[in-house]
Amino acid sequence: MTQATEDQTAAVGGPATEALAAREAAALLPVYRRQPVALEEGHGVWVSDAEGRTLLDFLSGLSVVNLGHAHPEVAATVASQAARLVHTSNLYYTEPQVALAERLQRTLGWPDAKAFLCNSGAEANEAALKLARRHGRQRDPGKTRVVALDGGFHGRTLATLATTGDPGKHAPFQPLGDWVTHVPHDDPQALADAVDDDVCAVWLEVVQGEGGVRPLSADVRAAAAEACARHDALLVADEVQTGVGRLGHWYGFQGTELEPDVVCLAKGLGNGLPIGAIVARGEAAAAFGPGDHATTFGGGPVVAAAACTVLDVCERDGLVAGAAQRGARLRAGLDDLAAQRDDCDHARGQGLLQALALTGPHAAEVTARALARGLLVNAVAPDAVRLAPPLVVTDHEVDEGLARLTAALDDVAAHASHPDATTPEEP
Ligand SMILES: *Cc1c(COP(=O)(O)O)cnc(C)c1O
Repeated sequence: MTQATEDQTAAVGGPATEALAAREAAALLPVYRRQPVALEEGHGVWVSDAEGRTLLDFLSGLSVVNLGHAHPEVAATVASQAARLVHTSNLYYTEPQVALAERLQRTLGWPDAKAFLCNSGAEANEAALKLARRHGRQRDPGKTRVVALDGGFHGRTLATLATTGDPGKHAPFQPLGDWVTHVPHDDPQALADAVDDDVCAVWLEVVQGEGGVRPLSADVRAAAAEACARHDALLVADEVQTGVGRLGHWYGFQGTELEPDVVCLAKGLGNGLPIGAIVARGEAAAAFGPGDHATTFGGGPVVAAAACTVLDVCERDGLVAGAAQRGARLRAGLDDLAAQRDDCDHARGQGLLQALALTGPHAAEVTARALARGLLVNAVAPDAVRLAPPLVVTDHEVDEGLARLTAALDDVAAHASHPDATTPEEP
């Protein structure tokens, strides 16, 4: 191990992290590949770990804490609502749930749309799948199929996993049924060919998040809209990652010509509190009746009130337009890296959801080196690093993140020229 490598890896982990990792290994199912850091506190774009280090969070959790960590107004809303009423079940009316649905109507620009509130992105997609199937079967009992895109990510329950376009994630859990047809994410003709009268919905993300930060082309969007109109299928926009300002629009589809029938929301909606939602309009909003779907916790007073505060703060502080501006600055920096460095290929994404594509499969190594440099990013693909800072990120913090990323790329390059050095563990 070279001295330089020793110094960088020594900056990650530590005794407190190792002790926690050992307790976790003895007590939790091992489904997560953790980075060697234990986070304890966060303020704005910054988090601190159990070893007392401070890190710049350029992932926002996972595109979740759009207002930054420990936002004081969200904290105040949670505290006051928790002291008044936390849970009632959905047997009774509660005002925050209605107030949130009204804010969703307003920000979507869909005054007649109707929401269903749940607890996560997978539950939002699950609700939308049931809504689409119900809507289809009301037209024809055979109208039950879904068309989705390769690389799309829609959740990990069995039905949302079946909709997710990643055969590797399917394999261990087969059978998942054969009611979903996946088509390439960049082939409008294949999409058009896959939709017939048996299809109840077409599923898409305006920018595929987990699939590598891949914006859909205008041709694919147009093919989806056209096929849905021709075959009376619902167009479902999974905006779990792209919604609530991240792409520089309230919702990503608003930056396109798409007019989805249903949107799925979650990640950024509660600034870290577990909440999901679907919003349906037109005939899609008429498909569910009493008893067709339900959830014990969904739309509970605390999370619904918190989400109202999130949307109010976004609106008052101009965070949606801010995401477009800060996103442009981040993107310009990533474009510069791609232009100047042999190890970087291109940048892609929109607003504050960006990826730096590398020329080789080194994203895990860059992510590990970035962590050692005090920057949280992730390897969204073997050759692509995702950057999705909170919408409240300042110009100065964007520049600081880019500087730390550049240092991490330099560390990887230096390591590659010292082949005897040890690679940090792949996440
Ligand atoms: C994260 C994500 C989901 C799943 O959300 P969970 O809250 O993890 O269930 C679904 N769709 C998209 C687009 C996502 O990014």
